[in-house]
Amino acid sequence: MESRATKIVETVPMTPVSGTPTPEDLVQRIAELEAENQRLRSGEAGRADAGSARPVPMESSVDVAPIQEGDVTLRRLVQRIAMILQAEKIVIMFYDRESGELRGIPPAYGVDDTKLDHFRVRATQGVSGEVFRGGEPVIFHNAAVDDRTRKDMVSLMHVHNGITVPLIIEKRDEENRVTERTTIGVLHAFNKRHGEDFNDEDVRLLERMARNVSSIIANLQLYREVVEEREELLQTFESLTSGLILVSPDKKISQMNATARSIFGVEVDIVGQRYDEKLDAPKVVSFFDRGLMGADIPPIEIEVERNSQERVYTVQGAAVKNEDGKTLGFVTIFNDITDQKNLDKMKSSFVAMASHELRTPLTAIKGFSTTLLEGVDGDFYSKDDQKEFLGIVVHECDRLRRLIDDLLNTARIEAGQSLKPNYTRFSLEDLLDKVVMVQNQASTRHKVFKKVQGDLPASLIGDEDKFDQILTNLLNNAIKYSPEGGDVLVHARVDGNEIELGVEDQGIGIPAEHLGKVFEKFHRVNNEDNRKIYGTGLGLFLVKHLVEDVHLGKIWVESEVGKGSTFKFRVPIELDIEEAKRRNDEMDS
Ligand code: ADP
Repeated sequence: MESRATKIVETVPMTPVSGTPTPEDLVQRIAELEAENQRLRSGEAGRADAGSARPVPMESSVDVAPIQEGDVTLRRLVQRIAMILQAEKIVIMFYDRESGELRGIPPAYGVDDTKLDHFRVRATQGVSGEVFRGGEPVIFHNAAVDDRTRKDMVSLMHVHNGITVPLIIEKRDEENRVTERTTIGVLHAFNKRHGEDFNDEDVRLLERMARNVSSIIANLQLYREVVEEREELLQTFESLTSGLILVSPDKKISQMNATARSIFGVEVDIVGQRYDEKLDAPKVVSFFDRGLMGADIPPIEIEVERNSQERVYTVQGAAVKNEDGKTLGFVTIFNDITDQKNLDKMKSSFVAMASHELRTPLTAIKGFSTTLLEGVDGDFYSKDDQKEFLGIVVHECDRLRRLIDDLLNTARIEAGQSLKPNYTRFSLEDLLDKVVMVQNQASTRHKVFKKVQGDLPASLIGDEDKFDQILTNLLNNAIKYSPEGGDVLVHARVDGNEIELGVEDQGIGIPAEHLGKVFEKFHRVNNEDNRKIYGTGLGLFLVKHLVEDVHLGKIWVESEVGKGSTFKFRVPIELDIEEAKRRNDEMDS
């Protein structure tokens, strides 16, 4: 028979789902398939129309019995033909489009099924080819001398005489008029018994019976395709990343794929049972109810706890109807939009935070400069006051600049550009002393210490400014997320040819599920404790880039909620500048 692949290309109007189909496509496809399935089950496909569109069932209850029944019927028919024609052998040859050959297929009479392989000729050869191409029967009385026969096959199969008729499938319209005729193979009757010869009456008989043979083969082919296609479709459904549930009008689940089962935490045996009894999700149950009533319902969103994590899904549905518009079921697709939702949330909270971060320093700058301006003529403020006010203005300007730098740098990284590192050799000890001193000046409620284990190398290769940014950022966070005050430690130790640094605080800590995410841009832990601590969620994203891409190092965090956090990172002492530059150039290219 033809290969599976050829059939799909030739006869199935919709190609199998490949890649990730959009939910709309899928719902549409399923609806169409289900309608086809209903058509098939209503008996329309029972006719021998090999050329009609292939019905594709999707319910698990599709009847596969006709295949076996068909096989038995065909075998009986072949036996009956042998009996009526008094023929020793009956062989069906089917045209294989791929190879262009006519091949013997079971069931045969008088020839062992295993020997059918020998019946194989090109569709242009011998009697078989002639009948196949011409569509007219051929009778031969002496195979050994007849110049139309293939002598090798004749002698191999001990054929003396015979009749060969075409196997034709006719496609008919509603008024039973033939609209298309396809020759699918040939039917042979060989060796009339008792040394007799075939006659024209035998030819007519064989022609008539060939019609039944064609009809059964066409049906068999149709059902085989139906079953194969159903299997294929079920596998596609099963492996879809979207959840899929199909419910029938009697409120039963007729299809549920692996993702859907995992969303609802149920087993496969739920198929065939009532969804309102088996699914613990009132919103979804009511969605199905409304869908089955034929309502055109907009998608809904549901929240489900999956693997002890809250996930958000959109649920889209489509009614499955037959050609007369009768509802046959309702199909739904569940798509996980948790990440998208989180990103949306993060983006809007970023906008709120960034506005706040911009407004706060501006308010201070405006306030203190206005105050100073008012005082110019009246000489209200002492020199010390003026110094203090101006100091605040400068500090707030720095804060603004840092924020703008963060935004610009994030945009650069996003655009795949490097931050243009400038590598030099510098003293880590001096840098540590400087950042610790600056931070001690910035906060009176926190004490910042340097804690060096063993000796530090005399110098380090890296971008000193950016190294400063890494430490300053981590220290700022340590102070910011320790609202009660406390000690902040800067650890440093050499490990082989790397240096490991850590910034440890006694602050609010980070919940375990956020540990891997705090380095993502915009990611902020929005718990009760730090809700009022403002920030953009960009700092650690930039720090990670500075450690890993600029200094070819590694950064991670250890933390316990309520106890504190330690951000640790390792970088090479003698950075391979060439390698680091290459990495950054790659970003720029
Ligand atoms: P921002 O501080 O601007 O929000 P970051 O990227 O610096 O952005 O930090 C991301 C998130 O990581 C913070 O919102 C906070 O929830 C958490 N975080 C960072 N550092 C600490 C820390 N030392 N202690 C507790 N949480 C922290």
